[in-house]
Amino acid sequence: MFGLEDKVVLVTGGNRGIGAAIVKLLEELGAKVAYTYRSGQGEYGALAIQADVTDPDAMAATVDQVERELGPIYGIVANAGITNDALLSRMTHEMWDNVINTNLTGVYNTIRPAIPLMYERKAGALVFISSVVGEQGNIGQANYAATKAGLIGLAKTIGLEGARSQVRANVVAPGFTETDMVKSIPDAVKEKILQTIPLRRFASEEEIGWATAFLLSPVMSGYITGTIISINGGRHT
Ligand code: NDP
Repeated sequence: MFGLEDKVVLVTGGNRGIGAAIVKLLEELGAKVAYTYRSGQGEYGALAIQADVTDPDAMAATVDQVERELGPIYGIVANAGITNDALLSRMTHEMWDNVINTNLTGVYNTIRPAIPLMYERKAGALVFISSVVGEQGNIGQANYAATKAGLIGLAKTIGLEGARSQVRANVVAPGFTETDMVKSIPDAVKEKILQTIPLRRFASEEEIGWATAFLLSPVMSGYITGTIISINGGRHT
């Protein structure tokens, strides 16, 4: 139904959290999924590759390996991301660089080797996992917000540059999602956060997965590029 059967998709950070949910769902939809991990392998996916997104050579080798072992890459989900929070007045250069290098340059490192191949084949779909924080900002997350907003500009630009090659780029911007990190927040703090979310619950990892699959799907979103799906329970400000 999604038209993703036998399509090769690479997901970064697919070993756990939202990335693992995306890998699982794409496999259920018939895609051939490769994913990267740093620390430990995940449970799903046809091909697991240990690669750090901050290392351009490792990411070029990853793209090569996926193409050799699974076939031409159709989709990329740039999901790997980190936080390193502090008020800007206390944020060190190291904290800034870590987050920029992973969340923004890491996405460039991931897609750069694949883009010419996709352009040549005139087929491809990129999905960047941004955040509600990239749309709205957040106290203590200047570095993170800058990277997640940067992904929106990146997708919009590829939406323009890739259009003549039928390569699409879109963004999923999740709000609070029920990952291990959110599950470990104390109940009292969770309750306060929930008061700011109109739907009064956090997103499930699967809900982020479905939106990602939709934006990869040539059947469902073939005419959608350079746009954002905000999955934030109605918290738009
Ligand atoms: P997790 O912390 O659970 O997982 C992060 C993933 O990114 C892991 O697979 C991790 O690999 C990988 N990763 C981190 N740094 C690198 C690196 N340098 N190279 C390769 N892989 C790396 O995060 P979530 O599942 O919660 O988040 C996934 C994405 O969704 C992120 O981009 C995040 O910013 C975004 N997001 C999350 C929200 C939430 O509420 N959870 C809300 C909005 C956006 P490893 O395990 O090997 O370290």
